[in-house]
Amino acid sequence: DTATVYNFSAGPAMLPQAVMRQAQKEFCNWHDTGLSVLDFSHRGADFTAIAEQAEKDLRDLLAIPEDYSVLFCPGGASLQFSAIAMNFLRGKALYLNSGVWGDKATQEAKNFGDVIAFDLLSKQDGKTAIRSQQDWPDCSDDYDYIHFTPNETIGGVEFADLPKAGQGRWIADMSSCILSQPINVKDYALIYAGAQKNIGPAGLTIVIVRNDWLQREPVAPVPSLLSYAVMAQNQSMYNTPPTYAWYLAGLVFQWIKAEGGVAQMARRAEQRSQALYQFIDNNDFYRNPIAKKNRSRMNIPFILKDESLNSLFLQQAEAAGLRYLKGHRSVGGMRASLYNAMPMQGVEALIDFMSAFAAQNR
Ligand code: PMP
Repeated sequence: DTATVYNFSAGPAMLPQAVMRQAQKEFCNWHDTGLSVLDFSHRGADFTAIAEQAEKDLRDLLAIPEDYSVLFCPGGASLQFSAIAMNFLRGKALYLNSGVWGDKATQEAKNFGDVIAFDLLSKQDGKTAIRSQQDWPDCSDDYDYIHFTPNETIGGVEFADLPKAGQGRWIADMSSCILSQPINVKDYALIYAGAQKNIGPAGLTIVIVRNDWLQREPVAPVPSLLSYAVMAQNQSMYNTPPTYAWYLAGLVFQWIKAEGGVAQMARRAEQRSQALYQFIDNNDFYRNPIAKKNRSRMNIPFILKDESLNSLFLQQAEAAGLRYLKGHRSVGGMRASLYNAMPMQGVEALIDFMSAFAAQNR
């Protein structure tokens, strides 16, 4: 890896260097067509080939069964907050929330029907943790679906184990953890993820939805672009899709395959995050507020013991090529996002910097 600057942003996040270089090489002339992917008609043979290959590679990576559709949607994950409710909320839905994004999904869904929101977070020995499943509402109740966020990007809270109830009716916002580990797609009715973390550029959202759910009759007319049935019938090309983002996502899928697939991504995520958590735990200058079992492998918030040093920390980190470490405004402190494209060298550079900064400012 030749990078000298590492981007720890929560999203848009860094893409793999190899993907950037390939995109650059192909930018003006894709596969000797004399055209850029930017100018391809989305209905032409060139783009169709790119689109189909991207879907196939994603299906391989996540072992997506035949009876699920893969959609490439516009609008970001936030638009899915509404789309999910508009398509599937008839009676009532359960939202199991572990942070800001689940809360936002709840607020949007409430515009369309009866939503029961349950706050999963509690404090255990001063640390934030997800309540154990016996304390949750009964998931076997007749909810249309059960929504949750396996990894909360802002709080840095991740489920250690998936919910053990409501299988087949789960809807998961995997925006900040998709492709970071193997999953069992069959457990879910729908999975969605904004692209700008582990998939590609902003502006694209991946939706994986079980086909029998496409038959469900919505209670009110759904705008075509928000209708999963319409999007599936039209191979995500009801209108002009974000073609370049789709192409780049395809390059990222090929890169993940070449690197060893999602199992390899999971090993690296474990290695990266463990190194940083271990450093934080062993240095009293820094603190992570999340209980060990629910610590995110992707987004690691940390607080300086002396918060008056925050701006100096950020200033010196930037000068050292460690960018976008400022924590979300609702949490404060710092946050290091370590998605698939972050090399171990980036984490080592961060730890070296944090260690030196602590030594100098004690
Ligand atoms: N859900 C999660 C878990 C997220 O991390 C984000 C973005 N940070 C969103 C939803 C919203 O995504 P978008 O900006 O693509 O609408």
